[in-house]
Amino acid sequence: MDFLECNAALATRKGWSRSAVPTVGALGERRGFCPSYGARRMAESAALLVDEVLPHQPMRQWVLSFPYQLRFLFASRPELMGKVLGIVYRAIASYLIRKAGLTRKSAQCGAVTLIQRFGSALNLNVHFHMLFLDGVYAKNKQGKTTFQRTNAPDQQELAILVHTISHRVARFLERQGVLERDEENSYLQLEGMDEDPMQQLIGCSVSYRIAVGPQQGRKVFA
Ligand SMILES: [Zn+2]
Repeated sequence: MDFLECNAALATRKGWSRSAVPTVGALGERRGFCPSYGARRMAESAALLVDEVLPHQPMRQWVLSFPYQLRFLFASRPELMGKVLGIVYRAIASYLIRKAGLTRKSAQCGAVTLIQRFGSALNLNVHFHMLFLDGVYAKNKQGKTTFQRTNAPDQQELAILVHTISHRVARFLERQGVLERDEENSYLQLEGMDEDPMQQLIGCSVSYRIAVGPQQGRKVFA
């Protein structure tokens, strides 16, 4: 099981820096969905985050997307997605704390996650946009809390992180009894899904296929 991508992009309080965005535009997917409502909601969410939630520190956007099977699973079983989000958060936060040369006892990180449910073709594509503090807070010897910025992750660090997350998520899903693995493959074990029409719609949307009508099952190329 592999995660397809994990891209980090720089976000500053002045706006989104495009230079470091390899594939995904910041929150851009909503625009194709419902322009006026989507744009207003985007602006409101951004204003709330900037005014009320995020500290005056540099932020970095992390985008994590999943294999098709897990997109399907998360759409059908959101409670599992919530647990997986916790695993992903802890993995990235621990990485940042270690990178700062500190431990979980002495340092804290923070993030806001926007769970995106659509890809750019309005296909069902559950993935995470995570706004992480680009560093950690730690207490110094005088007991004062200070922010310590970390350097950008390099390709090798990202690869290791993706591997760690993939391994932990797979182990969690195995323990939940929804993922089976043998030597070569891993597959989902979902009971009663075949008869449920909603699950079939979800399956079509995840795999870019037409769900109903005379062209049912045909692949849509986006
Ligand atoms: Zn996205």
